[in-house]
Amino acid sequence: MMGGDPLLSGFEDPEEYGFETRAIRAGQPHDQRTGGVVTPIAMSTTFAQEAPGSPKHGYEYSRTGNPTRHAYEACVASLERAKYGFAFASGLAAEDALLRQLTPGSQILIGNDAYGGTFRLIDQIHGKKSGVGNAAVDLTDPGQIREVWNPDCRMVWLETPTNPMLSVFDIQAISEVVHELGGLVIVDNTFATPYLQQPLILGADAVVHSATKYIGGHSDVVGGFIATNHDTLAEDLVFLQNAVGAIPSPFDCYLALRGLKTLAVRMDRHCENAKSIVSVLREHVSVSEVLYPGLEEHPGHEIAARQMSDFGGMVSFRLTGGQAAAERVVTSTKVFTLAESLGAVESLIEHPGVMTHLSVAGSALEVPDDLVRISVGIESTDDLVEDLVQALDQAG
Ligand SMILES: *Cc1c(COP(=O)(O)O)cnc(C)c1O
Repeated sequence: MMGGDPLLSGFEDPEEYGFETRAIRAGQPHDQRTGGVVTPIAMSTTFAQEAPGSPKHGYEYSRTGNPTRHAYEACVASLERAKYGFAFASGLAAEDALLRQLTPGSQILIGNDAYGGTFRLIDQIHGKKSGVGNAAVDLTDPGQIREVWNPDCRMVWLETPTNPMLSVFDIQAISEVVHELGGLVIVDNTFATPYLQQPLILGADAVVHSATKYIGGHSDVVGGFIATNHDTLAEDLVFLQNAVGAIPSPFDCYLALRGLKTLAVRMDRHCENAKSIVSVLREHVSVSEVLYPGLEEHPGHEIAARQMSDFGGMVSFRLTGGQAAAERVVTSTKVFTLAESLGAVESLIEHPGVMTHLSVAGSALEVPDDLVRISVGIESTDDLVEDLVQALDQAG
């Protein structure tokens, strides 16, 4: 989404409004023909032109731009406090568009904990196939960036909180260091969502999302998103959406836009349920460590309290009984479903070492084999707590 859309009238100056209002209204004018309050799913692949090259309403072809996508892009951009927003077919497609800023011979620094698929994309596609080097850095100490930075470095890529170790990095401190060195900071904001954390305000150059997770929020759409205030980066992303074509369908955009309307209330409940579960996990004999930024003993707690408005719905924990205990727990729950993915209304449980993070095995990003990750849903708190306790009782 770049520039003004002639059809996006009726909700001027959305910056004036609060988050919840913008989630429901930004980019979503009432249908000008019918007054419908819901953004239509614009299935048309092509749009009538007045003269060759002069489309009537700014739209030509749906890979280049689509009204439903445009509404969705304007909405997330508003929530991230960004000038520009770009929707992609998946989180990884969005990440790929950002990584295409790197030319062969350049280098990217990544946090030493990240989604396995992100590492695979950086290392195997942009690394082995396109000659972009990468190095993992412990970003809990932003000074380390200076130590490993070299003239080929262009970009620092981080998640916070990270997937699956729930480490927290100081976006503002990292941005200051990287900007001094002349690089770009990309923040994967999938875990926090713009409701809990707005990285662009803290100095990041671009935010990337797997919209498949909390933005969609109902496990029924795969999507990705980039938000930025950078004019030149935005120009290139417009070009890439069109030239590469990894765009979401109008129906996918509609689902994501529908999910966004309840993002705030869902996140409140995710956070609340996560806290109840964390306090139970901490008391259980089978659990050796609980990883949650909301805990005062979490090494990133202070930073999280400063840069996030709450601590999120993702919790990881380690078991005293090792990998076998982890396997027993993830196969013993009834309300928590054993499955990959996260961020939706239903609670999920998984074993990252052999599921979501299998692709980082043997790398600097490898995760412990006694680790269990849960995505706390918005079901009844008591049901979730009871289910997890009975599963932990079987951990041995
Ligand atoms: C799932 C995930 C991705 C990848 O997104 P897809 O929509 O599955 O392509 C990227 N980053 C994080 C933190 C994720 O959890």
